Amino acid sequence: MIEIKGCVGCSLCMLVCKFNAIRVFGEAKIDEEKCVKCMRCVDYCPVDAVNIA
Ligand code: SF4
Ligand code: SF4
Repeated sequence: MIEIKGCVGCSLCMLVCKFNAIRVFGEAKIDEEKCVKCMRCVDYCPVDAVNIA
């Protein structure tokens, strides 16, 4: 389960994702097919907007 809540669109997660799984247009969208759940975006998000379970 991937949920984005409270994203401010800073794009940091997109820059740190090594699997090119994130696009940000106003708010982040994660491609679940590409995401390997490495949790890097979760660690970097300044507002804790990414929840991956
Ligand atoms: S968990 Fe890892 S692979 Fe998935 S979107 Fe975040 S940084 Fe990319
Ligand atoms: S790092 Fe967090 S606030 Fe920034 S674009 Fe990604 S999900 Fe949104």
